[in-house]
Amino acid sequence: MTRPIAIGLTGGIGSGKSSAATVFESLGVPVLDLDRVGHELVAPGSDGLHQLIQAFGKSMLNRDGSLNRAALAAHCFGSAEETARLNALMHPLIWQAEALWLDQQQADYVIIEASVLLESGGAGRMHGVIVVLADESLRLQRVLARGDRDEKAFVTIVARQCSDARRRAEANWLIENNGSLAELQQQVVALHRKISATL
Ligand code: ADP
Repeated sequence: MTRPIAIGLTGGIGSGKSSAATVFESLGVPVLDLDRVGHELVAPGSDGLHQLIQAFGKSMLNRDGSLNRAALAAHCFGSAEETARLNALMHPLIWQAEALWLDQQQADYVIIEASVLLESGGAGRMHGVIVVLADESLRLQRVLARGDRDEKAFVTIVARQCSDARRRAEANWLIENNGSLAELQQQVVALHRKISATL
């Protein structure tokens, strides 16, 4: 069986990429959330978490045995070497899970949603990349309204992610999400038609 065509969907925090993914899903396009896959691969009791602890030590665990993401981030993100070590461990696990998922899909094309697709070099595995863009001030407002991060966390994440200039340069398709949710939906529907017509 041939694998469906994989199209990446990315954008900075709060840009609206999950919202765009939901619209693709509503149109019948299978969506894999790679950030969620990454989380699940290091769930308590998983082989992935075991490997992380072997590599970075027990201080990366919370008392309840779950991964202490803040500790791991603090340990890795100041150091290119430690980040590379973390990526060398996680990326093959993520690629394997992605390949297994792709093998199970029956669709002309699928969407692989990932917040750091460009930064992680993942675009190379994709047939093309959709980038969702929105002004940073609007992204902050939306993230604060979403309620899962404060402004400090937003700024830290933005600093770790790539620039909009790079996103624009690497995108095959752009979605500008400075308007309403209805406008976002219209853009996704139009893009879906365009992509379907080229396959
Ligand atoms: P991301 O996945 O890129 O971090 P989300 O899709 O979760 O971003 O969007 C961030 C928040 O903004 C969510 O609560 C979402 O419902 C809201 N949102 C996204 N796009 C719009 C829009 N065009 N208008 C209003 N709210 C939006």
